[in-house]
Amino acid sequence: MKVVVVGAGLGGLSAAAHLVKRGYEVTVVERESVPGGRAGIVAERGFRLDNGPTVLTMPDLLGDAFEAAGADMRDWVTIKKVDPMYRAVYADGSELKVLHGREAMAEEIRRFSNAREAGSFLQFCEWLDGLYRAEMDSFIDANFDSPLDLVKPWRAGLALLRMGAFRKLDTTIGRYFKDERLQRIFSFQSMYAGLAPYEALSLYAVITYMDSVQGVYFPEGGMHAMATGLAGALEKAGVQFRYGATVTRILRSAGSRGAVSGIEVAGSERIPADAVVCNPDLPVAYRTLLGGVDAPRTARRGKYSPSCVLWVAGVKGVPGPEAAHHNIHFGHEWDASFKALIEDGRRMPDPSILVTLHSLDTPGLAPDGHSSLYVLEPVPNLDGRIDWGRERDRIVGDIRTRVAALGYPTDVVVERVYDPLDWEAMGMERGTPFALAHTFLQTGPFRPNNVDRRVPGLAFVGSSTLPGVGVPMVLVSGKLAAERVEQYAAARGR
Ligand SMILES: Cc1cc2nc3c(=O)[nH]c(=O)nc-3n(C[C@H](O)[C@H](O)[C@H](O)COP(=O)(O)OP(=O)(O)OC[C@H]3O[C@@H](n4cnc5c(N)ncnc54)[C@H](O)[C@@H]3O)c2cc1C
Repeated sequence: MKVVVVGAGLGGLSAAAHLVKRGYEVTVVERESVPGGRAGIVAERGFRLDNGPTVLTMPDLLGDAFEAAGADMRDWVTIKKVDPMYRAVYADGSELKVLHGREAMAEEIRRFSNAREAGSFLQFCEWLDGLYRAEMDSFIDANFDSPLDLVKPWRAGLALLRMGAFRKLDTTIGRYFKDERLQRIFSFQSMYAGLAPYEALSLYAVITYMDSVQGVYFPEGGMHAMATGLAGALEKAGVQFRYGATVTRILRSAGSRGAVSGIEVAGSERIPADAVVCNPDLPVAYRTLLGGVDAPRTARRGKYSPSCVLWVAGVKGVPGPEAAHHNIHFGHEWDASFKALIEDGRRMPDPSILVTLHSLDTPGLAPDGHSSLYVLEPVPNLDGRIDWGRERDRIVGDIRTRVAALGYPTDVVVERVYDPLDWEAMGMERGTPFALAHTFLQTGPFRPNNVDRRVPGLAFVGSSTLPGVGVPMVLVSGKLAAERVEQYAAARGR
């Protein structure tokens, strides 16, 4: 059976790997000249600047994709620990390092705060262990056909209930930590799901687990190396790649109805297929590739995550010894910042920013005596109230001034800036690279499904479908999409 995967993002690549494992003949068709999608790269004047995901968690899931392609990840990409995982700098000048290893981290919390908080951290980790166990197999690594599927794994559901997973995240974090600075470092991860800690359910502490407990990693050669490595392993496994080929339509056997029969490239060429896996952002794919089929209501009317302004630059000079790979600079405000960003659609009054220095851990990403700079400020998506045409220069100017004042080298050799209009132009709904927010009613069976009864033979993969946003989740979504193709093939007796 022949399957075409549209898009070589990490979701599409993972789907291709899990399809190869099942013995299908796979072709990946990608509009860009390189794989990776959002995990992209700017290669210029001796710099290799990652311009997408920066915090890699759960690298074993990447290993699973390599394994599905019949490869050993270690032959294609070297994954290293980032330690400290984060350097958190608070508005009062205090600094906390988030370290690999529970004992080491407890010791750091004892130094930074007190022994009670250190003890609470260890209890918090135990609670997170249970949360992860209850969620992963039953609710994250799982396809859903109906909301009833949510109650089928009732044991896991009961365990979550008993653990308080349906309480608000900030309440749970507040039970463990009294020090407000620790509350921040162990709850800011809800932003990765597009939610404020005061609105997220404690279920989403699983992101904190994947991040600050299971650990943060970095591929040698930069984040983009994950995609080039996986694409290389897939080619070796026999997957055909077509780069620089924009898919313009998903073809159906009966005009605009019937089972999928292939894809159309650049408005003319046709590539036949028995099934298609679609990696472009789901709402955009419905609009542009599936003429006549409305996207599910959640995708059309749902709440989208905040977006970001990203400034990546190759700069002269190197940072001071205090700098870490990932540096979070918290503002004074907390709840008020989230309210501005998420509820009011305005810029945070006192923004918290992430400054990442990829070249600190991997020589070769910048020429000698130079550094790579990656600065991310969360901002409202295009549903917000900022007129990016008018405000962009001022906002980017603020960010540059702040980063220089924080002591990072900012003498720019090469740079790129991305704002929500840029993300939209790249095909991301509402100008956010972080997809639909993970409110409870936009997660699991309530998230746009990876199959649509109206389009037999099509499966979706990526951050707008199951299980959700971020590198680990889209890798899992590749496996779930391949399962869908297998179900379809079985139903057709193939
Ligand atoms: C600035 C930024 C920071 C982030 N930070 C993190 C982080 O620290 N940690 C983390 O885990 N995640 C992070 N993320 C999120 C993570 O990058 C995404 O969730 C994930 O990479 C999305 O993968 P995907 O496969 O769903 O989509 P994509 O990577 O967008 O892949 C879709 C692919 O389809 C291709 N395509 C689109 N339309 C067509 C067409 N018509 N024809 C052919 N090909 C097409 C695109 O070119 C692309 O290659 C970040 C993202 C960004 C942008």
